[in-house]
Amino acid sequence: MQKQCFLSVVVPMYNEEEVIEVTYRRLKTVLDTIGETYEIVFVNDGSRDKTSNIVRGMCAADHNVKLVEFSRNFGHQIAVTAGMDHSSGRTVVLIDADLQDPPELIVDMVARWREGYDVVYGKRIERKGESWFKKMTAAMFYRLLRSMTSVNIPVDTGDFRLMDRKVCDALTSMRERSRFIRGMVSWAGFKQTSVDYVRDERFAGETKYPLRKMIKLSLDAMTSFSTKPLKIASVLGFVLSAIGFIYLFIVLYQRFFTDTTTQGWTSLIAISLLFHGITLSLLGVLGEYIGRTYEESKRRPLYLLSDAINFAGENESSRE
Ligand code: UDP
Ligand code: MG
Repeated sequence: MQKQCFLSVVVPMYNEEEVIEVTYRRLKTVLDTIGETYEIVFVNDGSRDKTSNIVRGMCAADHNVKLVEFSRNFGHQIAVTAGMDHSSGRTVVLIDADLQDPPELIVDMVARWREGYDVVYGKRIERKGESWFKKMTAAMFYRLLRSMTSVNIPVDTGDFRLMDRKVCDALTSMRERSRFIRGMVSWAGFKQTSVDYVRDERFAGETKYPLRKMIKLSLDAMTSFSTKPLKIASVLGFVLSAIGFIYLFIVLYQRFFTDTTTQGWTSLIAISLLFHGITLSLLGVLGEYIGRTYEESKRRPLYLLSDAINFAGENESSRE
């Protein structure tokens, strides 16, 4: 077993060669001022640039730095999970590698933890340097998600947060594949509070969250925290059949008791297209849930490691 330190900082990285050195230095400065024992767990999520080599250099020079290396890119939420799995601290901080979340805030988070809170999450009061589109879709997403689920997920928070060991253990015990960590933390409960911060611009490099990954994350969040979309089908079906039934009576009445018959090709095509559209989209909704159920049922491990460095008791691969 590893010796427990006071604070573990988990940093997921995907092609972050341009920022990682600076991130390390800023983190180290902050952690040194706290004056407690700490470890920085870098998780290399299958980067194809020099990220791995740079962190390996840090590991050799500083034994508080640890590296977990994935066999390929498994995604941000899985990388954070792996970091938590490998952390030993009394408290655990999750932070992005790109310095959008200011490491200096960790000092405030630790102070709130000392007051007795188990989770201290960062609440973004302003987001700098992010596109209008990203801010708007994010704001809409958080509000939509809140309206669909009974779990109280705070709006405008990311994964930047400090958690007590017991919260971290609770999260790592949940091995679901569709992970939406901020939601899972809310689900877990415990005493939670927030600290406000201004989200900076990315220090260097580009976002590693293209629209495709953002859509996947939001679908994961929706499907793992709500079954309401599944119920849309029954509500919609009920309403539409009610309307259809009433309309049926109207046309039958017209046919038998009046001289007017409604002309029909355009309206038939319109109704047919509308209903096929609705049916196919609802099948898509079903598919989202069934696909995820299938993925879960395979019970594969969440990630595969190709290396782990500076962990006592783990095999380090060396080919020299
Ligand atoms: N990240 C990762 N795997 C991925 C995508 C991103 O580990 O597949 C990491 C990335 O290196 C960064 C964090 O997740 O530390 C957040 O990504 P990014 O800053 O690109 O997202 P944004 O802030 O633009 O939403
Ligand atoms: Mg970022």
